[in-house]
Amino acid sequence: MAVKITETALRDAHQSLIATRMRTRDILDIVEQLDDVGYWSLEMWGGATFDTSIRYLNEDPWQRLRDIKSRMKKTPAQMLLRGQNLVGYRHYSDDVVEKFVTKAHENGIDIFRIFDALNDFRNIETSVRTAKKVGAHVQGTVSYTISPVHTPETFIKMAKQLEEMDCDSICIKDMAGLLSPAAASEIVSGMKKEVSIPICVHSHCTSGMAPVMYYAAVEAGADIIDTAISPFGWGSSQPPTEAMVASLMGTKYDTGISLEKFNEITPFFRNLKDKYNSICDPISETIDANVILYQIPGGMLSNLVSQLKEQNALDKYMDVLAEMPRVREELGYPPLVTPTSQIVGTQAVLNVIMGERYKVIPKEVKDYARGYYGKTPVPMSPEMISLIIGDEQPITVRPGDQIPPEYEKMKKEAEEMGIAKSEEDVLTYILYPAIAPKFLKGEAEEEELVCGCSIPSSGSVNTAGIPTEYRVEVDGSVFDVKVEPTGYSIVAADGGNAGSKAAPAADEKKSKADLPGAVVSSMQGMILSIKTKVGEQVNEGDTICVIEAMKMENAVSAPKSGVVKEIIVAEGDTVTGGDALMIIE
Ligand code: MN
Repeated sequence: MAVKITETALRDAHQSLIATRMRTRDILDIVEQLDDVGYWSLEMWGGATFDTSIRYLNEDPWQRLRDIKSRMKKTPAQMLLRGQNLVGYRHYSDDVVEKFVTKAHENGIDIFRIFDALNDFRNIETSVRTAKKVGAHVQGTVSYTISPVHTPETFIKMAKQLEEMDCDSICIKDMAGLLSPAAASEIVSGMKKEVSIPICVHSHCTSGMAPVMYYAAVEAGADIIDTAISPFGWGSSQPPTEAMVASLMGTKYDTGISLEKFNEITPFFRNLKDKYNSICDPISETIDANVILYQIPGGMLSNLVSQLKEQNALDKYMDVLAEMPRVREELGYPPLVTPTSQIVGTQAVLNVIMGERYKVIPKEVKDYARGYYGKTPVPMSPEMISLIIGDEQPITVRPGDQIPPEYEKMKKEAEEMGIAKSEEDVLTYILYPAIAPKFLKGEAEEEELVCGCSIPSSGSVNTAGIPTEYRVEVDGSVFDVKVEPTGYSIVAADGGNAGSKAAPAADEKKSKADLPGAVVSSMQGMILSIKTKVGEQVNEGDTICVIEAMKMENAVSAPKSGVVKEIIVAEGDTVTGGDALMIIE
């Protein structure tokens, strides 16, 4: 039977390789050609695309969706939706989920691939029901992982549950590239016996097994495979589209797509890849069988690298990789995918850079232990739960059940701030309350793309027109010198560029760090809120401010009791490790 292809170039591929930085203007000129290939679907929205658009690109993600959709006449537009998490980092109330899915469909999404990081299907009930109601195709998802508690039968049973929930197809989401050909064969053929809806396999080349695994899955009956156009394939991205199409050609699995269809598309994306080369970390392009050991999903690897760069701790990379499986076991073996990948990843980063395990625990990790993300595959030990949340009792109900309706309340808030011109704007605000106001007011800026081109010996220049390759002559000997950005080349839209910001406040943050009573930041991040005032009495352990770092909220508590003498930082400020936040006497 002909195998169908989902092309991921516009979503997962650039999320995996270039931290989701593709601009809409980069994409639009190729959409009509992509539409003409004969793909089963084009994945182009969801995942991190929404976040990155407003956080770094100063782009409206809804507009991107409409712009792409208006150029697509034949191919269904597909998005990845994190169930009750939508495209954010917490669970939202049912009314927000219903509104988001409805609006996404109205703006152009035809296929919703819906998953829950913990495979707790109570968390996808509302979005599946809503997507069915609006008439979209629903692809229910099994998040694949390896652990002592995840057997092939576990996943086959999940597929059956998804079919019972009225899903139109099933996706085996192997976000970390862990699925071996033999396991795929066993799982896919097992599922084919139990369910009658089509099965899609999604994987990443991180461990190098994916192309072979796809073939095994296809032989076992898989109907659809996810691939990325070759310049954005391989590495921590999907297997290359052209290679998979060619591999199946002339067999009974022939996709029916001719390779000529890619004559313009492949060079187009090759040029685009060159443009973004400087932010494509070599680590995410390298085949690394160690991911089987560490279980790091494609997108997470490149994020982890940029998180460590942000914290000036790239040298701790291997330590963090080793810490990750330990944290994962302690948290009940969650599959690693957003948001659990951030939860496990950030806690592992903090455990390593703080020099003490669980010394700093972000709010999201606490909420996870409280059961707010759903049921963990294995229950966490009582010791771990009390280490993280003390005497609090975790919930056992569907997490969505305990979130009161929030759409109208947030809509009113957004209207009072004068930032919502549409229901889409309100949703953007609900999903990203910390960064959306600035974006919706039109005050956000597009991050600068520091580009180190890879074109050899031809006078490479970056986007600002500054040469990046020089020929230097010393005493008659000629040296070719290539200039590459150091530190982090990715500049946060909120002004988090350490190099360009030399405001006086920054000096104060540094100079006051040694004063008696100074509370210093232990990490790089943005001051999300300040929980105290000058002159106020605080007790040891009280939360005095919250720092957003690595997309997590980290509460800073008072190291001792006293009176707040001075607050050095303001909400919205960027701080680095060692900066003074306030003085407590
Ligand atoms: Mn993926």
